[in-house]
Amino acid sequence: MPHAKPNHSKRLDPRLPFVFDTRTLGLADVRSVSRTAAAPASLGAGLVSVPEGADLELEVRLERVTDGVLVTGVVRAPLVGECARCLDVFTSATEVCFTELFTHDADDEDADGYLLDGDLLDLEPALRDALVLELPLAPLCAEDCPGLCSECGVRLADAGTGHAHAGAGTDQTPGGSPAPETRKER
Ligand SMILES: [Zn+2]
Ligand SMILES: [Zn+2]
Repeated sequence: MPHAKPNHSKRLDPRLPFVFDTRTLGLADVRSVSRTAAAPASLGAGLVSVPEGADLELEVRLERVTDGVLVTGVVRAPLVGECARCLDVFTSATEVCFTELFTHDADDEDADGYLLDGDLLDLEPALRDALVLELPLAPLCAEDCPGLCSECGVRLADAGTGHAHAGAGTDQTPGGSPAPETRKER
C-alpha cells in the first residue's frame, strides 16, 4: 500500500474529517460511525474524480481486535468524469466497500496495511486507495454511449440515430478511384 507510511513527526489532529478516535474502544468492542466529510483534493484517477469538497458519506464499523483496529465500511461519493468515447462531462456516483486493519506495530515485517497513531486512525489514505481502485479507467457517460461521428466529430448521442453523411465512405473507393480527368461530365 503506497500510503501506509506512518507520520511520526506530528500527531494526527483528531478534528480532521477522516480521523477516528478509538481510545474508548475496548477489546472486541464494535462501534458504528456515520459521518459526512468533505472530499480531499485530487481524489481521482485519469478522467474521473470526486470533486474536492463534495460530500463523502461514510459508514464505518470500528472493531478492536488483538492486532489493532479493524475498519469495515462503505463510502458513497459523487463523481465527475469525462466520457472516454464522446468527451462529454458527466456526473455520477460511486459506492465502495472497504476493509482495512490498522495496526500499532510499525516494524511488523508483513505490515502492508495502515497504522494507528496512538488511539487515532486516519481513514483518508485507505479511502483514497479504495476509491481510486474502483474508478473506471475509461468512464462512459452512458453504458451505450455511441461516441463521436468519425466523419464530423459530432456527439452521436446528440445527433440522433439518423445522423449520416452523403459522401461517407467514398474518399477511398476500392478498385481504383476515378482519376480527375475521366470525370469531365460535371
Ligand atoms: Zn459519452
Ligand atoms: Zn457526422
